[in-house]
Amino acid sequence: MSPRVPLLDLTPQYEPLRDEILATVSRVCDSQRYIGGPEVDGLEAELAALLGVRHAIGVSSGTDALLVSLMALNVGPGDEVITSTYSFFATAGAIVRTGATPVLVDIDPVSYNIDPAGIVRAVTARTKAILPVHLYGLSADMDPILDEASRSGIPVVEDAAQAIGATYKGRAVGGFGAFGCFSFFPSKNLGAFGDAGLVTTNDPALAQRVRVLRDHGMQPKYYHQLVGGNFRLDALQAAILRVKAPHLHAWTEARRVNAGRYVRLFRDAGLEGHLTLPTEPAGRRHIFNQFVIRSHDRDRLKQHLDAQGIGNEIYYPVPFHLQACFASLGHRPGDFPEAERAARETLALPIFGELTVDQQQAVVHAIAAFARPDAAASRPAGASA
Ligand SMILES: *Cc1c(COP(=O)(O)O)cnc(C)c1O
Repeated sequence: MSPRVPLLDLTPQYEPLRDEILATVSRVCDSQRYIGGPEVDGLEAELAALLGVRHAIGVSSGTDALLVSLMALNVGPGDEVITSTYSFFATAGAIVRTGATPVLVDIDPVSYNIDPAGIVRAVTARTKAILPVHLYGLSADMDPILDEASRSGIPVVEDAAQAIGATYKGRAVGGFGAFGCFSFFPSKNLGAFGDAGLVTTNDPALAQRVRVLRDHGMQPKYYHQLVGGNFRLDALQAAILRVKAPHLHAWTEARRVNAGRYVRLFRDAGLEGHLTLPTEPAGRRHIFNQFVIRSHDRDRLKQHLDAQGIGNEIYYPVPFHLQACFASLGHRPGDFPEAERAARETLALPIFGELTVDQQQAVVHAIAAFARPDAAASRPAGASA
């Protein structure tokens, strides 16, 4: 059975761009230039301007953006990298793949982002980088993070995979640290037709290091000063992203309108006491890659929504410190209580830009029927979606 309201439907975004995208794809195919070339160069220049950074380097994925950034900072065995215990796996996975040790920190329960006070406590002589994540599309609290980084002389790598276009005090994320790392995984606000990513930096020497590392550390051809990898961005993905990027702002605005409408609908339905809704702290522009609510009865709410055909997802059910693959870090349940509570209580609802008012009402009514079954049953006729 296809859901009544999908968590994400990419078709209505694709339809109006279909002809333009197919024309671009055939242009790249006719050129027979599939690796690097003008499409990648063009995308890099356009995204650097969009994000207000000096350098943007296309790479093969958001995961590889994180990995190559850490490699460019010479992070390796014996080093520690401080990050949030609550994120997508790639954040911690990239650290471990360099040979370094992730030093995990709990989250702030309101923003779901890394707790800056926890970073201060986690810094040691071995700390080689601080890796905050702008989770769900909301910037981490950058001022205290950057203060601690400059006090300790430690570079910051921003995991902005979910947060392209999010701002902190008027500036786009990805431009605060030594590096910003973006993903164009299809479900991100700017999605490719496959895997793709981006590294941003304002430092020309670091930009050059990433460019060399993304192509096997090769410079000039077949002379290798560094051991890099194949972290290159395909010309086809770059060309498709160039068609889509000019629409990003409008798509993000549509998500923000939908988020505001959810808040009104939940309030009108009297559900404020039953759920915790996402917030947008002053000075931060949330891009709502995810609209995440909290419920004390999350698992049963999820079952109810699944049965009602309402798309939903848990991001993320297990924090890093409780993942089997990180058992050697030696953590136990209770070490990071806020992340553990978020893992038990959070649920993402459909938020894509083309979501209709009727669909949003269906989501809210389904949640109302779960949270307040009596009120939902006595809802006046005509009030339903
Ligand atoms: C999506 C994502 C990544 C990885 O990006 P890919 O392009 O899928 O490799 C990294 N970190 C976070 C927080 C993400 O959401």
